[in-house]
Amino acid sequence: MKQLKENFLNLSLKKKWTITTSLVILVSYAAICIVIYFALYTWLFNNEQNNAIRTTDDLTTFFNSQEGSITINELQQNTGLMKSIIHQNQTVRIFNMDGYEVLRINNQSPAARIKLTLEQLFNTFVSKESINGKNVIVVSRTVQIGLFHGYMQLIHPLDPFESMMQYMLTAMLIAGVGAILIVGLISSYLSNLLMRPLGDLRDSMITIKDKGFEEVIQFNYMADDEIGDLLKIYRSMMDEIQQSFVKQQQFVSDASHELRTPIQAIEGHLSLLKRWGREDPVILDESLTTAIAEVSRMKKMIEELLDLARREKRDVHAYANIENVLNAVKDELQIVYNAVEIQITVSGVSKKANITENALSQIVRNIMENGIRYNNRRPIIIVKVNYLSDNIFLTISDNGIGIKQENINKIFDRFYREDVSREHSGGGTGLGLSITKMLVEKYNVEMEVSSKLGEGTIFTLRFPIYKFQHSK
Ligand code: ADP
Repeated sequence: MKQLKENFLNLSLKKKWTITTSLVILVSYAAICIVIYFALYTWLFNNEQNNAIRTTDDLTTFFNSQEGSITINELQQNTGLMKSIIHQNQTVRIFNMDGYEVLRINNQSPAARIKLTLEQLFNTFVSKESINGKNVIVVSRTVQIGLFHGYMQLIHPLDPFESMMQYMLTAMLIAGVGAILIVGLISSYLSNLLMRPLGDLRDSMITIKDKGFEEVIQFNYMADDEIGDLLKIYRSMMDEIQQSFVKQQQFVSDASHELRTPIQAIEGHLSLLKRWGREDPVILDESLTTAIAEVSRMKKMIEELLDLARREKRDVHAYANIENVLNAVKDELQIVYNAVEIQITVSGVSKKANITENALSQIVRNIMENGIRYNNRRPIIIVKVNYLSDNIFLTISDNGIGIKQENINKIFDRFYREDVSREHSGGGTGLGLSITKMLVEKYNVEMEVSSKLGEGTIFTLRFPIYKFQHSK
Protein backbone atom coordinates (compact mmCIF):
# COMPACT_ATOMS: atom_id res chain seq x y z
CA MET A 1 0.00 0.00 0.00
CA LYS A 2 2.81 2.35 1.00
CA GLN A 3 4.69 1.40 -2.17
CA LEU A 4 1.55 2.00 -4.23
CA LYS A 5 1.10 5.44 -2.66
CA GLU A 6 4.74 6.28 -3.32
CA ASN A 7 4.45 5.13 -6.95
CA PHE A 8 1.33 7.23 -7.38
CA LEU A 9 2.99 10.33 -5.91
CA ASN A 10 5.92 9.89 -8.29
CA LEU A 11 3.68 9.89 -11.35
CA SER A 12 3.50 12.97 -13.56
CA LEU A 13 0.79 15.52 -12.70
CA LYS A 14 -1.01 14.60 -15.92
CA LYS A 15 -1.23 10.92 -14.99
CA LYS A 16 -2.24 11.71 -11.41
CA TRP A 17 -5.04 13.92 -12.68
CA THR A 18 -6.31 11.36 -15.22
CA ILE A 19 -6.16 8.44 -12.79
CA THR A 20 -7.83 10.37 -9.97
CA THR A 21 -10.72 11.72 -12.05
CA SER A 22 -11.32 8.30 -13.65
CA LEU A 23 -11.27 6.60 -10.24
CA VAL A 24 -13.64 9.14 -8.71
CA ILE A 25 -16.07 8.75 -11.61
CA LEU A 26 -15.76 4.94 -11.45
CA VAL A 27 -16.49 4.77 -7.73
CA SER A 28 -19.43 7.20 -7.88
CA TYR A 29 -20.87 5.44 -10.95
CA ALA A 30 -20.51 2.03 -9.29
CA ALA A 31 -22.19 3.29 -6.10
CA ILE A 32 -25.12 4.76 -8.07
CA CYS A 33 -25.46 1.55 -10.14
CA ILE A 34 -25.46 -0.68 -7.05
CA VAL A 35 -28.19 1.40 -5.40
CA ILE A 36 -30.33 1.48 -8.55
CA TYR A 37 -29.82 -2.23 -9.22
CA PHE A 38 -30.85 -3.34 -5.74
CA ALA A 39 -33.82 -0.95 -5.53
CA LEU A 40 -35.05 -2.20 -8.91
CA TYR A 41 -34.40 -5.84 -7.97
CA THR A 42 -36.47 -5.58 -4.79
CA TRP A 43 -39.29 -3.72 -6.50
CA LEU A 44 -39.53 -6.12 -9.46
CA PHE A 45 -39.18 -9.21 -7.26
CA ASN A 46 -42.05 -7.99 -5.06
CA ASN A 47 -44.08 -7.45 -8.23
CA GLU A 48 -43.45 -11.05 -9.32
CA GLN A 49 -44.39 -12.32 -5.87
CA ASN A 50 -47.61 -10.27 -5.86
CA ASN A 51 -48.48 -11.62 -9.33
CA ALA A 52 -48.11 -15.18 -8.09
CA ILE A 53 -50.23 -14.51 -4.96
CA ARG A 54 -52.87 -12.70 -7.04
CA THR A 55 -53.18 -15.71 -9.38
CA THR A 56 -53.49 -17.99 -6.35
CA ASP A 57 -56.25 -15.72 -4.98
CA ASP A 58 -58.07 -15.83 -8.34
CA LEU A 59 -57.90 -19.61 -8.38
CA THR A 60 -59.15 -19.83 -4.80
CA THR A 61 -62.09 -17.59 -5.70
CA PHE A 62 -62.75 -19.78 -8.71
CA PHE A 63 -62.74 -22.98 -6.59
CA ASN A 64 -64.99 -21.43 -3.97
CA SER A 65 -67.53 -20.42 -6.64
CA GLN A 66 -67.98 -24.06 -7.79
CA GLU A 67 -71.03 -26.03 -6.73
CA GLY A 68 -70.66 -27.98 -3.50
CA SER A 69 -71.08 -31.31 -5.34
CA ILE A 70 -68.27 -30.85 -7.90
CA THR A 71 -65.55 -33.47 -7.88
CA ILE A 72 -61.89 -33.36 -8.85
CA ASN A 73 -62.65 -35.61 -11.84
CA GLU A 74 -65.17 -33.12 -13.16
CA LEU A 75 -62.63 -30.37 -12.81
CA GLN A 76 -59.99 -32.44 -14.62
CA GLN A 77 -62.36 -32.73 -17.60
CA ASN A 78 -62.57 -29.03 -17.92
CA THR A 79 -59.29 -27.18 -17.16
CA GLY A 80 -59.77 -24.53 -19.87
CA LEU A 81 -61.19 -21.94 -17.51
CA MET A 82 -58.45 -22.50 -14.94
CA LYS A 83 -55.80 -22.20 -17.67
CA SER A 84 -57.21 -18.80 -18.56
CA ILE A 85 -56.85 -17.70 -14.91
CA ILE A 86 -53.19 -18.63 -14.56
CA HIS A 87 -50.32 -17.41 -16.74
CA GLN A 88 -49.10 -19.79 -19.38
CA ASN A 89 -45.65 -20.19 -17.80
CA GLN A 90 -47.05 -20.87 -14.32
CA THR A 91 -47.84 -24.38 -13.12
CA VAL A 92 -50.49 -25.27 -10.54
CA ARG A 93 -50.60 -28.57 -8.75
CA ILE A 94 -53.33 -29.71 -6.35
CA PHE A 95 -52.48 -32.36 -3.79
CA ASN A 96 -54.67 -34.26 -1.32
CA MET A 97 -53.68 -34.02 2.29
CA ASP A 98 -51.51 -37.15 1.90
CA GLY A 99 -49.37 -35.37 -0.68
CA TYR A 100 -50.67 -37.18 -3.82
CA GLU A 101 -51.12 -34.99 -6.83
CA VAL A 102 -54.74 -34.99 -7.99
CA LEU A 103 -54.83 -32.15 -10.49
CA ARG A 104 -52.28 -30.29 -12.64
CA ILE A 105 -52.86 -27.16 -14.67
CA ASN A 106 -50.02 -26.47 -17.18
CA ASN A 107 -46.84 -28.45 -16.82
CA GLN A 108 -44.04 -25.93 -17.09
CA SER A 109 -41.95 -27.12 -14.18
CA PRO A 110 -41.68 -30.11 -11.81
CA ALA A 111 -43.24 -29.95 -8.36
CA ALA A 112 -41.36 -28.14 -5.63
CA ARG A 113 -40.58 -30.30 -2.65
CA ILE A 114 -41.32 -28.24 0.38
CA LYS A 115 -42.26 -29.62 3.74
CA LEU A 116 -44.90 -27.39 5.23
CA THR A 117 -46.87 -27.43 8.45
CA LEU A 118 -50.64 -27.22 8.38
CA GLU A 119 -50.55 -23.80 9.89
CA GLN A 120 -48.27 -22.54 7.11
CA LEU A 121 -50.64 -24.01 4.51
CA PHE A 122 -53.67 -22.35 6.05
CA ASN A 123 -51.94 -19.01 6.02
CA THR A 124 -50.58 -19.14 2.42
CA PHE A 125 -46.87 -19.82 2.28
CA VAL A 126 -44.65 -18.00 -0.27
CA SER A 127 -41.02 -19.03 -0.83
CA LYS A 128 -38.25 -18.72 -3.37
CA GLU A 129 -37.01 -22.13 -4.49
CA SER A 130 -34.65 -23.60 -7.01
CA ILE A 131 -36.05 -26.37 -9.20
CA ASN A 132 -33.60 -28.04 -11.59
CA GLY A 133 -31.30 -25.04 -11.32
CA LYS A 134 -34.07 -22.55 -12.12
CA ASN A 135 -35.36 -20.05 -9.60
CA VAL A 136 -39.10 -19.97 -8.99
CA ILE A 137 -41.59 -18.51 -6.55
CA VAL A 138 -43.79 -21.14 -4.93
CA VAL A 139 -47.14 -20.19 -3.36
CA SER A 140 -48.75 -22.94 -1.27
CA ARG A 141 -52.20 -22.78 0.28
CA THR A 142 -55.06 -25.14 1.29
CA VAL A 143 -58.02 -25.61 -1.11
CA GLN A 144 -61.57 -26.79 -0.73
CA ILE A 145 -63.18 -28.02 -3.98
CA GLY A 146 -66.64 -29.43 -3.35
CA LEU A 147 -66.04 -32.20 -0.87
CA PHE A 148 -62.32 -32.43 -1.69
CA HIS A 149 -59.93 -30.97 0.80
CA GLY A 150 -56.26 -30.62 -0.10
CA TYR A 151 -53.67 -27.99 -0.91
CA MET A 152 -52.38 -26.33 -4.02
CA GLN A 153 -48.95 -25.27 -5.13
CA LEU A 154 -48.46 -22.46 -7.68
CA ILE A 155 -45.02 -22.37 -9.28
CA HIS A 156 -44.17 -19.03 -10.76
CA PRO A 157 -40.90 -19.12 -12.81
CA LEU A 158 -38.47 -16.23 -12.37
CA ASP A 159 -36.74 -16.62 -15.79
CA PRO A 160 -38.14 -13.42 -17.37
CA PHE A 161 -37.40 -11.43 -14.23
CA GLU A 162 -33.85 -12.77 -14.01
CA SER A 163 -33.08 -12.24 -17.67
CA MET A 164 -34.31 -8.69 -17.34
CA MET A 165 -32.02 -8.08 -14.32
CA GLN A 166 -29.19 -9.69 -16.29
CA TYR A 167 -29.90 -7.36 -19.19
CA MET A 168 -29.86 -4.34 -16.89
CA LEU A 169 -26.57 -5.38 -15.33
CA THR A 170 -24.96 -5.80 -18.76
CA ALA A 171 -26.31 -2.43 -19.90
CA MET A 172 -24.96 -0.75 -16.76
CA LEU A 173 -21.56 -2.39 -17.19
CA ILE A 174 -21.30 -1.38 -20.85
CA ALA A 175 -22.42 2.19 -20.06
CA GLY A 176 -19.96 2.28 -17.14
CA VAL A 177 -16.99 1.13 -19.20
CA GLY A 178 -17.97 3.60 -21.94
CA ALA A 179 -18.28 6.45 -19.44
CA ILE A 180 -14.93 5.66 -17.85
CA LEU A 181 -13.28 5.58 -21.28
CA ILE A 182 -14.81 8.92 -22.25
CA VAL A 183 -13.93 10.51 -18.88
CA GLY A 184 -10.38 9.15 -19.16
CA LEU A 185 -9.99 10.59 -22.66
CA ILE A 186 -11.46 13.98 -21.74
CA SER A 187 -9.43 14.33 -18.54
CA SER A 188 -6.27 13.25 -20.33
CA TYR A 189 -6.95 15.88 -23.02
CA LEU A 190 -7.71 18.54 -20.41
CA SER A 191 -4.70 17.75 -18.27
CA ASN A 192 -2.57 17.83 -21.42
CA LEU A 193 -3.94 21.26 -22.23
CA LEU A 194 -3.33 22.59 -18.72
CA MET A 195 -0.01 20.91 -18.07
CA ARG A 196 1.62 21.89 -21.37
CA PRO A 197 2.32 25.50 -20.28
CA LEU A 198 3.69 24.21 -16.98
CA GLY A 199 5.93 21.87 -18.96
CA ASP A 200 7.08 24.83 -21.07
CA LEU A 201 7.75 26.75 -17.87
CA ARG A 202 9.87 23.90 -16.54
CA ASP A 203 11.77 23.67 -19.87
CA SER A 204 12.38 27.41 -19.79
CA MET A 205 13.79 27.18 -16.25
CA ILE A 206 16.05 24.28 -17.25
CA THR A 207 17.29 26.24 -20.29
CA ILE A 208 18.02 29.31 -18.16
CA LYS A 209 19.79 27.13 -15.59
CA ASP A 210 21.94 25.46 -18.26
CA LYS A 211 22.54 28.27 -20.73
CA GLY A 212 21.78 31.49 -18.85
CA PHE A 213 19.50 34.19 -20.21
CA GLU A 214 20.66 33.93 -23.83
CA GLU A 215 17.92 31.55 -24.92
CA VAL A 216 14.41 32.62 -24.04
CA ILE A 217 11.51 30.21 -24.51
CA GLN A 218 8.30 31.80 -25.76
CA PHE A 219 5.04 30.53 -24.24
CA ASN A 220 2.07 29.94 -26.52
CA TYR A 221 -0.44 29.93 -23.68
CA MET A 222 -2.36 33.22 -23.87
CA ALA A 223 -5.46 32.49 -21.75
CA ASP A 224 -6.34 34.98 -19.03
CA ASP A 225 -6.52 32.42 -16.21
CA GLU A 226 -4.34 31.40 -13.24
CA ILE A 227 -1.78 29.64 -15.45
CA GLY A 228 -1.71 32.64 -17.81
CA ASP A 229 -1.07 34.88 -14.79
CA LEU A 230 1.67 32.57 -13.57
CA LEU A 231 3.42 32.71 -16.95
CA LYS A 232 3.08 36.51 -17.07
CA ILE A 233 4.56 36.87 -13.58
CA TYR A 234 7.35 34.45 -14.45
CA ARG A 235 8.13 36.36 -17.65
CA SER A 236 8.26 39.74 -15.91
CA MET A 237 10.33 38.30 -13.06
CA MET A 238 12.77 36.82 -15.53
CA ASP A 239 13.00 40.16 -17.37
CA GLU A 240 13.78 41.90 -14.09
CA ILE A 241 16.36 39.31 -13.07
CA GLN A 242 17.93 39.53 -16.52
CA GLN A 243 18.12 43.32 -16.31
CA SER A 244 19.61 43.29 -12.84
CA PHE A 245 22.00 40.55 -13.96
CA VAL A 246 23.19 42.75 -16.84
CA LYS A 247 23.44 45.76 -14.49
CA GLN A 248 25.39 43.69 -12.00
CA GLN A 249 27.84 42.61 -14.67
CA GLN A 250 28.19 46.19 -15.86
CA PHE A 251 28.73 47.32 -12.27
CA VAL A 252 31.44 44.76 -11.59
CA SER A 253 33.28 45.61 -14.81
CA ASP A 254 32.97 49.39 -14.13
CA ALA A 255 34.12 48.98 -10.53
CA SER A 256 37.16 46.92 -11.47
CA HIS A 257 37.99 49.36 -14.25
CA GLU A 258 37.71 52.35 -11.90
CA LEU A 259 39.80 50.65 -9.23
CA ARG A 260 42.44 49.69 -11.76
CA THR A 261 43.15 53.35 -12.65
CA PRO A 262 44.45 54.46 -9.21
CA ILE A 263 46.32 51.15 -8.78
CA GLN A 264 48.08 51.70 -12.12
CA ALA A 265 48.96 55.26 -11.10
CA ILE A 266 50.41 54.06 -7.78
CA GLU A 267 52.29 51.28 -9.57
CA GLY A 268 53.76 53.80 -12.06
CA HIS A 269 54.93 56.12 -9.31
CA LEU A 270 56.42 53.32 -7.23
CA SER A 271 58.50 52.08 -10.21
CA LEU A 272 59.57 55.67 -10.86
CA LEU A 273 60.65 55.92 -7.23
CA LYS A 274 62.53 52.65 -7.46
CA ARG A 275 64.46 53.74 -10.53
CA TRP A 276 65.17 57.46 -9.89
CA GLY A 277 63.30 58.70 -6.89
CA ARG A 278 65.60 57.55 -4.11
CA GLU A 279 68.19 60.17 -5.06
CA ASP A 280 65.84 62.82 -6.45
CA PRO A 281 63.86 64.51 -3.65
CA VAL A 282 61.52 66.27 -6.13
CA ILE A 283 60.42 62.99 -7.74
CA LEU A 284 60.21 61.36 -4.32
CA ASP A 285 57.92 64.05 -2.99
CA GLU A 286 55.74 64.19 -6.10
CA SER A 287 55.34 60.43 -6.31
CA LEU A 288 54.50 60.05 -2.64
CA THR A 289 51.91 62.85 -2.83
CA THR A 290 50.27 61.27 -5.89
CA ALA A 291 50.32 57.80 -4.34
CA ILE A 292 48.69 59.08 -1.14
CA ALA A 293 46.05 60.96 -3.16
CA GLU A 294 45.27 57.85 -5.23
CA VAL A 295 45.09 55.65 -2.16
CA SER A 296 42.65 58.01 -0.47
CA ARG A 297 40.57 58.15 -3.68
CA MET A 298 40.52 54.35 -3.73
CA LYS A 299 39.54 54.29 -0.07
CA LYS A 300 36.70 56.72 -0.73
CA MET A 301 35.52 54.66 -3.70
CA ILE A 302 35.52 51.45 -1.70
CA GLU A 303 33.58 53.10 1.11
CA GLU A 304 31.04 54.41 -1.37
CA LEU A 305 30.75 51.03 -3.06
CA LEU A 306 30.09 49.51 0.33
CA ASP A 307 27.43 52.16 1.00
CA LEU A 308 25.73 51.24 -2.27
CA ALA A 309 25.96 47.51 -1.64
CA ARG A 310 24.72 47.64 1.95
CA ARG A 311 21.15 48.63 1.11
CA GLU A 312 19.83 48.57 4.65
CA LYS A 313 16.12 48.50 5.35
CA ARG A 314 14.32 51.83 5.59
CA ASP A 315 13.60 53.06 9.10
CA VAL A 316 9.95 54.17 8.84
CA HIS A 317 10.03 55.95 12.21
CA ALA A 318 13.08 58.02 11.35
CA TYR A 319 12.93 61.79 11.53
CA ALA A 320 15.38 64.60 10.92
CA ASN A 321 15.58 68.29 11.64
CA ILE A 322 16.49 69.68 8.23
CA GLU A 323 17.90 72.98 9.48
CA ASN A 324 20.24 71.31 11.98
CA VAL A 325 21.53 68.93 9.32
CA LEU A 326 22.01 71.72 6.78
CA ASN A 327 23.96 73.87 9.24
CA ALA A 328 26.19 70.94 10.21
CA VAL A 329 26.98 70.16 6.56
CA LYS A 330 27.58 73.85 5.87
CA ASP A 331 30.13 74.05 8.71
CA GLU A 332 31.87 70.89 7.53
CA LEU A 333 32.15 72.11 3.92
CA GLN A 334 33.33 75.56 4.88
CA ILE A 335 36.25 74.01 6.75
CA VAL A 336 37.31 71.95 3.70
CA TYR A 337 36.57 74.60 1.05
CA ASN A 338 37.25 77.91 2.79
CA ALA A 339 36.36 80.24 -0.11
CA VAL A 340 32.84 78.91 -0.33
CA GLU A 341 29.72 80.89 0.47
CA ILE A 342 26.70 78.90 1.66
CA GLN A 343 23.40 80.73 2.29
CA ILE A 344 20.52 78.98 4.00
CA THR A 345 17.03 80.53 4.08
CA VAL A 346 13.92 79.04 5.69
CA SER A 347 10.20 79.79 5.21
CA GLY A 348 7.15 78.25 6.88
CA VAL A 349 6.65 76.50 10.21
CA SER A 350 9.47 74.12 11.01
CA LYS A 351 8.63 70.40 10.69
CA LYS A 352 10.53 67.11 10.84
CA ALA A 353 11.28 65.16 7.66
CA ASN A 354 10.67 61.39 7.61
CA ILE A 355 14.30 60.38 7.01
CA THR A 356 17.34 59.64 9.15
CA GLU A 357 19.70 62.57 9.84
CA ASN A 358 22.57 60.50 8.51
CA ALA A 359 20.87 59.84 5.13
CA LEU A 360 19.75 63.47 4.87
CA SER A 361 23.25 64.80 5.53
CA GLN A 362 24.73 62.39 2.95
CA ILE A 363 22.19 63.57 0.33
CA VAL A 364 22.73 67.31 0.89
CA ARG A 365 26.50 66.95 1.31
CA ASN A 366 26.85 65.16 -2.07
CA ILE A 367 24.76 67.77 -3.86
CA MET A 368 26.41 70.80 -2.17
CA GLU A 369 29.93 69.44 -2.61
CA ASN A 370 29.31 68.85 -6.34
CA GLY A 371 28.16 72.49 -6.62
CA ILE A 372 31.48 73.54 -5.07
CA ARG A 373 33.73 71.15 -7.01
CA TYR A 374 32.25 71.60 -10.47
CA ASN A 375 32.67 75.33 -10.35
CA ASN A 376 34.98 77.80 -12.09
CA ARG A 377 34.00 80.77 -9.94
CA ARG A 378 33.95 81.43 -6.25
CA PRO A 379 31.32 78.87 -5.27
CA ILE A 380 28.04 80.26 -3.92
CA ILE A 381 25.55 77.66 -2.76
CA ILE A 382 22.03 78.88 -2.04
CA VAL A 383 19.84 76.55 0.02
CA LYS A 384 16.12 77.26 0.53
CA VAL A 385 13.90 75.31 2.92
CA ASN A 386 10.15 75.69 2.47
CA TYR A 387 7.85 74.02 5.00
CA LEU A 388 4.37 73.22 3.60
CA SER A 389 1.54 71.40 5.40
CA ASP A 390 2.34 67.93 3.99
CA ASN A 391 5.80 68.29 2.49
CA ILE A 392 9.09 69.99 2.91
CA PHE A 393 10.68 71.51 -0.21
CA LEU A 394 14.41 71.97 -0.37
CA THR A 395 16.26 73.63 -3.25
CA ILE A 396 20.02 73.65 -3.54
CA SER A 397 21.41 75.84 -6.33
CA ASP A 398 24.99 76.53 -7.27
CA ASN A 399 26.81 78.90 -9.62
CA GLY A 400 28.91 76.07 -11.07
CA ILE A 401 29.76 74.95 -14.61
CA GLY A 402 26.32 73.34 -15.16
CA ILE A 403 25.42 70.06 -16.82
CA LYS A 404 24.58 69.53 -20.49
CA GLN A 405 20.85 68.95 -20.93
CA GLU A 406 21.37 65.52 -22.56
CA ASN A 407 23.54 64.37 -19.64
CA ILE A 408 21.25 65.35 -16.78
CA ASN A 409 19.70 61.87 -16.54
CA LYS A 410 23.09 60.19 -16.63
CA ILE A 411 24.59 61.92 -13.59
CA PHE A 412 22.89 59.40 -11.29
CA ASP A 413 24.46 56.39 -13.05
CA ARG A 414 27.24 54.64 -11.21
CA PHE A 415 30.73 55.87 -12.21
CA TYR A 416 29.27 58.43 -14.60
CA ARG A 417 31.37 61.58 -14.82
CA GLU A 418 31.13 64.29 -17.45
CA ASP A 419 34.34 64.68 -19.43
CA VAL A 420 34.85 68.32 -18.37
CA SER A 421 34.33 67.31 -14.77
CA ARG A 422 37.38 65.09 -14.67
CA GLU A 423 39.69 68.12 -14.44
CA HIS A 424 37.53 69.46 -11.57
CA SER A 425 37.14 66.15 -9.92
CA GLY A 426 39.34 66.57 -6.87
CA GLY A 427 39.09 62.85 -6.21
CA GLY A 428 35.55 62.33 -7.55
CA THR A 429 34.48 58.74 -8.06
CA GLY A 430 31.25 59.04 -10.04
CA LEU A 431 29.38 57.33 -7.20
CA GLY A 432 28.21 60.28 -5.06
CA LEU A 433 24.94 60.92 -6.91
CA SER A 434 24.25 57.15 -7.25
CA ILE A 435 24.28 56.99 -3.47
CA THR A 436 22.11 60.12 -3.31
CA LYS A 437 19.61 58.53 -5.70
CA MET A 438 19.58 55.29 -3.72
CA LEU A 439 18.87 57.14 -0.45
CA VAL A 440 16.27 59.41 -2.05
CA GLU A 441 14.34 56.39 -3.37
CA LYS A 442 14.65 54.59 -0.06
CA TYR A 443 13.03 57.45 1.89
CA ASN A 444 10.40 58.33 -0.76
CA VAL A 445 11.95 61.70 -1.49
CA GLU A 446 11.21 63.25 -4.87
CA MET A 447 14.15 64.80 -6.65
CA GLU A 448 14.44 66.97 -9.77
CA VAL A 449 17.47 68.55 -11.41
CA SER A 450 17.66 71.49 -13.76
CA SER A 451 20.84 73.00 -15.05
CA LYS A 452 22.20 75.62 -17.44
CA LEU A 453 25.71 75.31 -18.85
CA GLY A 454 27.90 78.07 -17.50
CA GLU A 455 25.25 79.32 -15.05
CA GLY A 456 24.69 76.61 -12.50
CA THR A 457 22.55 73.72 -11.34
CA ILE A 458 19.42 73.50 -9.15
CA PHE A 459 18.42 70.36 -7.21
CA THR A 460 14.81 70.36 -5.90
CA LEU A 461 13.90 67.83 -3.24
CA ARG A 462 10.49 67.12 -1.69
CA PHE A 463 10.58 65.28 1.64
CA PRO A 464 7.63 63.56 3.27
CA ILE A 465 6.76 64.93 6.71
CA TYR A 466 7.30 62.85 9.83
CA LYS A 467 3.73 62.12 11.03
CA PHE A 468 4.03 59.79 14.01
CA GLN A 469 2.54 61.04 17.25
CA HIS A 470 5.61 60.97 19.39
CA SER A 471 7.41 63.37 16.99
CA LYS A 472 9.43 65.97 18.81
P1 ADP B 1 31.60 62.54 -8.67
O1 ADP B 1 32.23 61.78 -7.57
O2 ADP B 1 32.32 62.40 -9.97
O3 ADP B 1 31.28 63.93 -8.32
P2 ADP B 1 28.74 62.22 -8.76
O4 ADP B 1 27.95 61.02 -8.89
O5 ADP B 1 28.56 63.05 -7.55
O6 ADP B 1 30.26 61.77 -8.93
O7 ADP B 1 28.47 63.13 -10.02
C1 ADP B 1 28.45 62.58 -11.32
C2 ADP B 1 28.83 63.59 -12.36
O8 ADP B 1 27.73 64.50 -12.51
C3 ADP B 1 29.98 64.45 -11.98
O9 ADP B 1 31.18 63.81 -12.38
C4 ADP B 1 29.71 65.71 -12.78
O10 ADP B 1 30.17 65.52 -14.11
C5 ADP B 1 28.23 65.83 -12.81
N1 ADP B 1 27.71 66.77 -11.79
C6 ADP B 1 27.10 66.45 -10.66
N2 ADP B 1 26.72 67.55 -9.97
C7 ADP B 1 27.08 68.62 -10.70
C8 ADP B 1 26.97 70.03 -10.55
N3 ADP B 1 26.39 70.58 -9.47
N4 ADP B 1 27.45 70.82 -11.52
C9 ADP B 1 28.03 70.28 -12.61
N5 ADP B 1 28.19 68.98 -12.82
C10 ADP B 1 27.72 68.14 -11.89
